[in-house]
Amino acid sequence: MRRRPEEILALARADLVAMPGYEPVEPVDVAACRLGIPEDQIVKLDGNENPYGPSPRVAEDLARFPYYHIYPDPEQRRAREVIAQYVGVDPEMVVAGSGSDELLDLVARLFLSPGDVVLNAPPTFGMYPFLTQLYSARLVETPRREDFSLDLPAIEAALNGGAKLLFLASPNNPTGNTLSRDELERLLSYRKVVVVDEAYIEFAGESFVDMVEEHDNLIVARTFSKWAGLAGLRAGYGVFPRPLADIVRKIKMPYNLNAAAEAAILASLEDVATLRQRAAAIVSERERLQQHLAELSWLRPYPSQANFLLCKVRGLAAREVRDRLRDRGVLVRHFDAPGVRDCLRISVGKPEHTDRLLTALAEIGADVGK
Ligand code: PMP
Repeated sequence: MRRRPEEILALARADLVAMPGYEPVEPVDVAACRLGIPEDQIVKLDGNENPYGPSPRVAEDLARFPYYHIYPDPEQRRAREVIAQYVGVDPEMVVAGSGSDELLDLVARLFLSPGDVVLNAPPTFGMYPFLTQLYSARLVETPRREDFSLDLPAIEAALNGGAKLLFLASPNNPTGNTLSRDELERLLSYRKVVVVDEAYIEFAGESFVDMVEEHDNLIVARTFSKWAGLAGLRAGYGVFPRPLADIVRKIKMPYNLNAAAEAAILASLEDVATLRQRAAAIVSERERLQQHLAELSWLRPYPSQANFLLCKVRGLAAREVRDRLRDRGVLVRHFDAPGVRDCLRISVGKPEHTDRLLTALAEIGADVGK
């Protein structure tokens, strides 16, 4: 008898079958192949990755690592110890995982039952609505103001109205602005769970990780993807109040921090000085890029505390600018959602990447008479 695939799909969760997927960026080799441009000619400024790559110690240590055939430590003892030292908290409060995405997923797994309300402040990172859907929870959105600051009264009304979990990125992706300590204190007083996503904190100023000790409803998610250049290895962590950390360790997959990611974390944290220098280079390149973009009459870059700049395109469709940049081998991300209509998000690269981008933008400007 012939089998029909719909029969099996009908057994799957209908909400997952119907939901739109998370929109990831295209791998650089796929983009290069599609554009017919050699891979090493592509300027990849669409994924907020670190153009300097990992500390050189990572490759050395991974080449020497003798235990790939042995399961990693499910309790992540060594990784938690060094991460805790780096962050300045107790190792008991740390859980590591496969990128901070996994930590966000574990938080959702811990708190969300079907129908629970998650509060989201768009424009922001797409993972928060994605996780809300994965766990059949309900999303309540309180859009940011025009300057991308939080609409605190709207958030407070939603927290009073039954929302139990609130995701806030600081610096926020894609807008680049940060949360203030006062705002966070105020939101924590509602006794709901606040997740502060500090994926880009090493390019910014103040971390709120010190507040986890005094607030049993604050979780801070961090990553090695951005400042430490480990996006491809998947290494992130969360800092949790102790009772929550214990439960998260219990509900995670036992070997969620793989041996290579663990070794890379240890190597990176032995070479923090190099990584900090590179983060500082990215910050100063961000300022240079910001100045040059502001000189173009048809672009308006917003201030940013992260390793990317959000930029409003005026008098031209941002999608078209993205496409024309792509034709010239420069990849950036385009946004067209409420609050970020006709915007580009440009990751900060090395100075030569900025130069390639600026040349391409000048050509595009000349083409369209700007
Ligand atoms: N949070 C934010 C705000 C991000 O922009 C990203 C990366 N796009 C992540 C978390 C996830 O980072 P990772 O899983 O690589 O640690």
